[in-house]
Amino acid sequence: MAGIELEGIRKSFGPTAVLKGVSLAIADGEFLSLVGPSGCGKSTLLRIIAGLEVQDAGRIRIGSRAVEGIAASARNLAMVFQSYALYPHLTVAENIAVPLRMRRLSGLQRLPLVGGLLPGSRRERAAIDAAVRSAAEILDIGHLLQRKPAQLSGGQRQRVAVGRALVREPEAFLLDEPLSNLDAKLRVHMRSEIAGLHRRLATTFVYVTHDQAEAMTMSDRIAVMLDGELLQVATPHEVYHRPADRRVAEFIGSPK
Ligand code: ADP
Ligand code: MG
Repeated sequence: MAGIELEGIRKSFGPTAVLKGVSLAIADGEFLSLVGPSGCGKSTLLRIIAGLEVQDAGRIRIGSRAVEGIAASARNLAMVFQSYALYPHLTVAENIAVPLRMRRLSGLQRLPLVGGLLPGSRRERAAIDAAVRSAAEILDIGHLLQRKPAQLSGGQRQRVAVGRALVREPEAFLLDEPLSNLDAKLRVHMRSEIAGLHRRLATTFVYVTHDQAEAMTMSDRIAVMLDGELLQVATPHEVYHRPADRRVAEFIGSPK
């Protein structure tokens, strides 16, 4: 597990400045929500942390490591997206195992779970099975391992997507609106599931949402973003009762 430090992150797409110098220190094990209206730059920032996009300026440290030039696959972060594309032809177990098999195939990293085991060997397969089973137990989908995605509910599919992230034993989780495709009731349920997962794993979570109510209930701290800038980074209580300015108050819905 690792804290994440951002310093002066800037990013433009063509003439449009999307991130205008974002600095933020996320503590080891913290649950930080990044909130702000659609289009303010949340996903871009998360993708830059993940290494899926490269910043124009600024520095990132994960743990004590500067990650510039380090490929996404070697950053040991788990990313869960809004559209959690599962492979329809694979079972739940196979979907969860994908990152383990990919890491071995890419040869980029020795996998801690099956490190030292001969690729394709019976012992390696057993280690992957055990890792998949353990992730599935944590997420309460152990009974669904042989199903195909089409046979699952939205919430179950979302858990499979989280399981796929979990199995990598990431140093931190980056979640980009993972609940926005679910219906309202399930969303509320999954909120507490994710909060519970964070407590059990004690890993750093960066959680992007445009739903301030979601952020208020789950987070240690909230970072409020508008137009590519952070307006305030504080506890939910502080953001609500002592908003930095009128724009924060309006977005959060603080009492006037
Ligand atoms: P959010 O996640 O807060 O909704 P995004 O980070 O997705 O915002 O997008 C911020 C702005 O950057 C938007 O105006 C979006 O259109 C633009 N943008 C994002 N990705 C790209 C890209 N690859 N090329 C061009 N513009 C982009
Ligand atoms: Mg987004």
